[in-house]
Amino acid sequence: MKFSTKSIHTGEVPDFREGASGDVIAPLHLSTTFAREEVETPTSGFEYSRSSNPTRKTLEQKLAAIEKAQFGLAFASGLAAETSVLMALLKTGNHVIATDDLYGGTQRLFRKVFATNYGIDFSFVDTSMPADIKSAITEKTKLIWVESPTNPLLKLSDIAEIATIAKQNGIVVVVDNTFMSPFFQNPLELGADIVLHSTSKYINGHSDSIGGAVMLNDKDLFEKIQFIQNSAGAILSPFDSYIVLRGIKTLSMRMKRHSENAQLIAEFLERHPSVKRVIYPGLASHPQFSLAKRQMSGFGGMITVELSGDLSGAERFIKSLHYFSLAESLGGVESLIELPALMTHASVPQEDRVKLGITDTLIRISVGVEDADDLINDMETALRTV
Ligand code: PLP
Repeated sequence: MKFSTKSIHTGEVPDFREGASGDVIAPLHLSTTFAREEVETPTSGFEYSRSSNPTRKTLEQKLAAIEKAQFGLAFASGLAAETSVLMALLKTGNHVIATDDLYGGTQRLFRKVFATNYGIDFSFVDTSMPADIKSAITEKTKLIWVESPTNPLLKLSDIAEIATIAKQNGIVVVVDNTFMSPFFQNPLELGADIVLHSTSKYINGHSDSIGGAVMLNDKDLFEKIQFIQNSAGAILSPFDSYIVLRGIKTLSMRMKRHSENAQLIAEFLERHPSVKRVIYPGLASHPQFSLAKRQMSGFGGMITVELSGDLSGAERFIKSLHYFSLAESLGGVESLIELPALMTHASVPQEDRVKLGITDTLIRISVGVEDADDLINDMETALRTV
């Protein structure tokens, strides 16, 4: 099956057994517990919904299928998925190499929870430079954690090359694939061991469910993470599983439109005199344009832009827009805009933000699936206020 067929059909098989209703969509199973006919064995295979739930299981099968993985697990948020992976794979004293401009919440989890409370050592390096990764490896390094493209600077890391370095050193590679979604990038095919998503973004795509996912092929790693999913309990609820199942069915169409719109807007912004810099992997001006074309099958819906002028000009621009809501998050059908330094990345220490180039006037745009003409006209009018 190809992507769109998998996203619609995987796991959703009408039940024609006597007494069953033949639902065309996977039903929402809210039951916390499941009755059995015998004491020893659960008749349906389900016992208690934290351990496994039929709606979540259908979603987990679909998540695995669209990321070309053997196994999928659904969590209560992207950060719950991240926490579970770290808890499953690390012990006090272990070392992790992570991309230096990871999503701010991921950095907070690493720095303020796992480093501070649990004695895990993190090195934040520019993972777009494989030599920097190599020189950061120690005998305690157990994980390399990569976001590509990064958030908000849309820097790419060569996943295949990182996977080769990791394999030579017996290190597990985790790729946060939230920005590309499984439609545009499949890190497992490039040699990564674990793929992670905040399903709150493109996978669900309608800004109405917080969730996270882990997809992988290695049975041993899967069992370790599944053990934490059940033991620590940060599972996705049946209702959210149902919502995300619905969202996935249109993922391919949405991603194509996000990407088409973003390309047009990035080209428009790049030509505009009030714009200092546009970062978008689909522009020939992106420093890693050739890697983008090799590693991804599309360039996604995220654009980062720096306007000429100061913070007050950037604020005037943002407030003058009609179709771009000033809000954190990304990946929904509606366009959003935000100032990372004051919003999503406020938890990153200021000196680190400056070092990375996350200036106060840097603007992040999540381009929705509205009509591109309306979005561009809106921007054109708002840019007059800068
Ligand atoms: N990874 C990336 C790239 C993100 O942008 C986010 C949230 O913005 C997360 C992980 C965390 O996901 P969640 O908000 O679902 O916990």
